[in-house]
Amino acid sequence: MEYTHLMNQPPDSNYSDDAPGNDTYSHYFHIPHAVHQGNETSKKSIYFCGNSLGLMPKTVNKYIEAELTDWANLGVEGHVHGSNPWVSYHEILTPTMSKIVGAKSSEVVVMNGLTVNLHLMLASFYRPTPERFKILIEYNPFPSDRYALESQVRFHGYDPAEAIIELIPKDGSEIVDTETIIETIAEYGDGIALIMMAGVNYYSGQLYPIAEITQLGHAAGCLVGFDLAHAAGNVTLNLHDDGVDFAVWCSYKYLNSGPGNLSGCYVHERHHRDEKLPKLTGWWGHNKAERFKMAPGFVPIPTVESWQLSNPPILAMAAIKASLDIFEEVGMQHLVDKSKKMSAYLFELLEDLDTDKIKIITPTNPEARGCQVSIQMVNKDKTLFNRLAAEGIIADWREPDVIRIAPVPLYNTFAEIQIFVSLIKKYL
Ligand SMILES: *Cc1c(COP(=O)(O)O)cnc(C)c1O
Repeated sequence: MEYTHLMNQPPDSNYSDDAPGNDTYSHYFHIPHAVHQGNETSKKSIYFCGNSLGLMPKTVNKYIEAELTDWANLGVEGHVHGSNPWVSYHEILTPTMSKIVGAKSSEVVVMNGLTVNLHLMLASFYRPTPERFKILIEYNPFPSDRYALESQVRFHGYDPAEAIIELIPKDGSEIVDTETIIETIAEYGDGIALIMMAGVNYYSGQLYPIAEITQLGHAAGCLVGFDLAHAAGNVTLNLHDDGVDFAVWCSYKYLNSGPGNLSGCYVHERHHRDEKLPKLTGWWGHNKAERFKMAPGFVPIPTVESWQLSNPPILAMAAIKASLDIFEEVGMQHLVDKSKKMSAYLFELLEDLDTDKIKIITPTNPEARGCQVSIQMVNKDKTLFNRLAAEGIIADWREPDVIRIAPVPLYNTFAEIQIFVSLIKKYL
């Protein structure tokens, strides 16, 4: 072990890797090598970047290989005679994906990239009128979401500066409290067409109260959607019961499906048979039994699958299947339980440092965060981050001043958290 000299026994046995429920599944994944000054080294990294790109399951090659073999041996016949027939391949991803986001299987489909799905959802669920054309967004949203929303506003002939309202935290904090959300919806509610927020903010790591926001939005006559890029596979989600109208998320962050892989999309069943809902359509959303009759007249599948456009990339989906099978085996509840302990441990160790050079901006309330902890450098100095990187810690730096750390319960350990904080102590 590369870091043995930095390891101590944790003070609380709850935070030991040997404690019940604390087991790691890191042996299911390839752990990357540390990179130093642009070069890969032979040293295994401590990988805290699963919030940006999840690690590669060792089974991915096998799953993709199986589809390549079917393609080689069957050609076009693989669509119906493959071991996992390609016409319906996306369906085998649905049961696990639905559990991860807390939805019915008729409400979840894997398709397209995340921002593409966001646009498809906005085509259906952002229907501005002169009286009600505003979109309420979170504080400091991920740029792609902001660009998508602004372009939709312009597409409908409105001005983003007037239409988009951003939640603003009180007192210069990074965290938006529930009171602010309530007040903002109360103030602008009858002008808001859509509330569109992240589940977990990519910068601060704040987990928003999804059920409460949905309820408040609906009471004010707004539709409510979420981008769950940083929430899916990270926190417990109950999209159906919370009544969320739509949601989108990528599969390559906590869901470990590989760079740029396909996105998940959820639409509440109450919208599935609404024929008045505008929708951008393609042949993969057409009635499955009739699809290959190639006839005019679009007949939508009566589920979220009616939003599908194209026949999907099977090789990419095979990698998603490899990863979802691990989630199916381990279970979200187990991961969330371990994750809460890991971030509590990280919080405790960082607080013990008792330094004013760093500030944790992620909420201290465990119910208001996932596994990510965002550490702000008070003097905006990137030196600590560079030193950690030189020691083989793979984390990320978000401008202007934040180090994001995601101890992922699937493959990170309590020992890695302790080593990480020892290194911070050494270099601060
Ligand atoms: C990662 C992320 C994206 C990335 O979008 P892609 O379309 O997958 O490139 C978008 N929005 C949020 C909130 C994200 O966290």
